[in-house]
Amino acid sequence: MRIVTTIAELDPCFGGVFVPTMGALHAGHFALVREAKRLSGGRPVVVSIFVNPTQFNDPKDLARYPRTLDADAAGCAEAGADVVFAPAAVAMYPPDSSVAVPRLPEVATRPGLEDAHRPGHFAGVCQVVKRLFEVVRPAAAVFGEKDWQQLQVIRAMVAQEHLGIAIEALPTVREEDGLAMSSRNVFLSSEDRCRALAISRALCEAAGKKSVTEAERVMATMLREANLGVEYAVVREASTLMPLGTSATTPARALIAARCGSVRLIDNAPWPRG
Ligand code: AMP
Repeated sequence: MRIVTTIAELDPCFGGVFVPTMGALHAGHFALVREAKRLSGGRPVVVSIFVNPTQFNDPKDLARYPRTLDADAAGCAEAGADVVFAPAAVAMYPPDSSVAVPRLPEVATRPGLEDAHRPGHFAGVCQVVKRLFEVVRPAAAVFGEKDWQQLQVIRAMVAQEHLGIAIEALPTVREEDGLAMSSRNVFLSSEDRCRALAISRALCEAAGKKSVTEAERVMATMLREANLGVEYAVVREASTLMPLGTSATTPARALIAARCGSVRLIDNAPWPRG
């Protein structure tokens, strides 16, 4: 496996399967890399590791984001990556050029979820993902369901911009006790980590409820009982993330964002249980 830092070195990997990340990789990310390898059929598997400044709406979050490149690269090699692309910010955003923010799809602006609680976040995500797609030129890219709204935003952007890249998704990888793996979990104190379990438990409980109102009520109650700062705990249409209409057949998703100590956590699950 090669580690490259310049765009010029990416030529041999065009047409491969791509996994974009911000590093501090865990088993959830490595599952994406293994899936990319499985899908690749011999084409190159490229993992990018770039902590994208333009998608952080909180400078403190950006400053303390964990950076563990050596361990990340070792894990990527083991999971089947051919290339790790770890560019400096100047390579991604050259000072003499402006890297455009694509027109944001509605799912990045209307639902009132991540879009409302992290202003500017999806503009940064779309900007960096489009730029990465332009320099890596993959045939397919693999994303995690952990960031459900982001996944819908990427799908919508790829369709809207006619990028012709197949977007594949993998279910959230969890710790044994249900906590969704996240690079930010290292910041949880042991007491906060315990309280954070209320999030996956609330999603599980909500999945057993028959109505959206009951599901949202039980999530709010469980999160409040665990003393978490709830930003949202809702059931929405799975791809637009707008409130459910009257059609009983539309796929739906329960989604939570909550603050636990100094850490903001998000998670989601299919709703209702099948
Ligand atoms: P990031 O953690 O922002 O670097 O995310 C890079 C990719 O990994 C995104 O597609 C995420 O959705 C995905 N990802 C992050 N955590 C998990 C997880 N626990 N399970 C599966 N995919 C994940």
